Amino acid sequence: MDQPIEEKRTQAVLEYPAIYKRVIEQWKLEGEDTFWLIYSANYLFRFGGVRWAVDPVILSSRIQADFPPHLEEDFEKVDFIVLTHRHSDHLDKKLLKEISDINIPWVVPEFMLDEVNKIIHLPDHRIIVPTPGKHLEISGIKILALEGSHWEKTGDLNAQGIALHGVPAYSYLFEAQNKRWFIPGDTRTYDPKQIPQLGHLDGLIAHVWLGRNGALKDPPPLLDKFCEYFLRFYSSKIVLTHLDEWGRTESDLWTNHHADVITQRIKQKSTSVTVISAFTGDQVSMQ
Ligand SMILES: [Zn+2]
Repeated sequence: MDQPIEEKRTQAVLEYPAIYKRVIEQWKLEGEDTFWLIYSANYLFRFGGVRWAVDPVILSSRIQADFPPHLEEDFEKVDFIVLTHRHSDHLDKKLLKEISDINIPWVVPEFMLDEVNKIIHLPDHRIIVPTPGKHLEISGIKILALEGSHWEKTGDLNAQGIALHGVPAYSYLFEAQNKRWFIPGDTRTYDPKQIPQLGHLDGLIAHVWLGRNGALKDPPPLLDKFCEYFLRFYSSKIVLTHLDEWGRTESDLWTNHHADVITQRIKQKSTSVTVISAFTGDQVSMQ
């Protein structure tokens, strides 16, 4: 029988300090192009010797565990920070405040400026507000921000017959040395019409979400929609993340079980794509 969720959460909290320490140590070293999951859907990249973080969040900020790392020292080698949206599993205000004196640029979507300014006062020259659809470049990494699809069609309709629930979010394409990796970010509406034309991708980081309150349903409501949506991106690799996010209740908590179901379903639909599941502490090669 499966371990109860409370036990798994307690175990994750106990294991986290050692995982965090290992990830930070590896990230600081020189080595091949790689990214690590510092938490469920929170990334530390090292590519061509450049280091950046996308939505850096640590477990102890998300579920209030007692673990005080030395964040400023741990992030001393980071070259820039990228933020996608304001949900608390993506925006770690405590962490951001602690690393805010490191003299690096932050890529902050316009719709997050107020939120960020409330916690930290970064000098203007360190804030880069991306324009969706327009490339920018930092430390040799080309970055393209695009409108995300974090709006969810809900059952309650408005006068126009549509009801949307969600927040603004950006997706990001990172390109360097002919490698192209895309982070669509949290996606709530799997609408093929909203898929950007990005051409061939080396990797796509897909945040697992198969329908609100759907985690205990078999099959989860949006399983096919999720698989079909991400297969339309023409990526050699699909990396499934946003798994074991312990701030969630069980009916919204996506686990290795869901990742396995998705992997099987994608394999039925495509034989050419490689599917990988990645959890907190894992590292993924970008070669
Ligand atoms: Zn979100």
